[in-house]
Amino acid sequence: MIDPERTIAAQATAAGQGAIAVIRMSGPGCMDVLKQCTPVAFTDRLRPRRATLARILDAEGGTIDQALITWFPAPASYTGEDTVEISCHGGMLVTVRLLKRLYQCGASPAEPGEFTKRAFLNGRMDLTQAEAVMDVISSGSDLALKAAQSQLDGGIGSQVNELKDSLIHVLAHIEAYIDFPDEDISPDTASALLERLRQMEEKLSALLRTAEGGRLLREGIRTAIAGPPNVGKSSLLNTLLGYERAIVSNIAGTTRDTVEESIQLAGLALRLIDTAGVRESSDVIEQAGITRTNRALETADLVLEVADASAPRTEPFLTAGCTAPRLLVLNKCDLGIHPDWKTIPGIRFSCAAGEGREELEEAIVRAFASALPGETGSSQVAINARHQHELGLCLEHIRLASESISRQESPEFTALELREALTHLGEITGAVDTEDVLGAIFSSFCLGK
Ligand code: GDP
Repeated sequence: MIDPERTIAAQATAAGQGAIAVIRMSGPGCMDVLKQCTPVAFTDRLRPRRATLARILDAEGGTIDQALITWFPAPASYTGEDTVEISCHGGMLVTVRLLKRLYQCGASPAEPGEFTKRAFLNGRMDLTQAEAVMDVISSGSDLALKAAQSQLDGGIGSQVNELKDSLIHVLAHIEAYIDFPDEDISPDTASALLERLRQMEEKLSALLRTAEGGRLLREGIRTAIAGPPNVGKSSLLNTLLGYERAIVSNIAGTTRDTVEESIQLAGLALRLIDTAGVRESSDVIEQAGITRTNRALETADLVLEVADASAPRTEPFLTAGCTAPRLLVLNKCDLGIHPDWKTIPGIRFSCAAGEGREELEEAIVRAFASALPGETGSSQVAINARHQHELGLCLEHIRLASESISRQESPEFTALELREALTHLGEITGAVDTEDVLGAIFSSFCLGK
């Protein structure tokens, strides 16, 4: 639980050396703390949202650092409380000493995510926006960042609130019938309510369809690079990465383990997984690598199937359980294309000559175009697994409510389902009491956020 009387402080910038570091403090005691560790009457000079230079003093009056101090009076601050940001020199020792001094003067260390949690509890943002703060920070691609910014702007929250309003409207109608038990729901009213619920089901289904895109954006597209030994899988990984990461050699079976690296390609985050060559092997270590390859293929979102275009055609490999889309990369085209491959559709590529990258990028974007948020409208948002869970349950209860109306059951049953649906919507934005949900969300935050 958060004690709003506590004034918290933590470093908001990453640990390590930098030109500056920012220390953030929030709570009713901000000014008290500042009064003790800055020169006399400095706080009288502070103006809201104006950076003001001051020395931060230790207990003996010695200078810890010169810093720019900005005061954001409540409620117009990130947390909704009195907040102070101290921009000091970005040395490890400076920040540690400065924080210690703030704690000495009455502030206490913030828990991870506590600033954002306070912002949520003080009504400065809903839960989807709080989650978006972390998504913005951890975005690994342009598209992921765009979706996170849209969520931070309230993209998901506003759609959920619209659904909530519609649901409340239907519920109010149904409850009116509970209050007047002598009246039956007329067929006209019933069909109007059913139509309203059907529209909500559609909206919910549309939002639920963004879950896969959301996962791909947040986690990156798991891309397995697979194919027989020596066709250039490790070379492809290195080419895409732009530097030598995997060991490249012409001895078959060099990549005995899977190697994973993240890159951004055409605005998408790809988690590239170089696998051991798919072939029969008696070598125990190599066999273990091949088992891992099969596992990587089974969990992949995309398979780049590499083949040597200069050699005779080999049979395409098959892995039971691998359902991901496949792109055939015909590597070593610089050595000429063997007649076997002439009519086979695939991306003509050469790691050695650096050719084919653009075509590969285009093919990858095409493969995920329908799953990822587009340029326009509501499809810009992409829900996360928590939203997916709650929306799924909400949809289930709305369907049950519709069935209950169709079967002309007592309105109490319908109302029960609608209230359940409403609770699940409320859990998404944090409108209902959800202490355990808060714990789960904010524990993944870093300190100072
Ligand atoms: P892997 O076993 O499939 O990972 O293959 P490697 O990436 O280790 O490459 C096997 C050999 O093929 C190495 O000698 C590479 O230098 C060579 N190779 C990879 N790509 C190309 C290419 O596009 N053209 C040519 N000529 N050689 C390549």
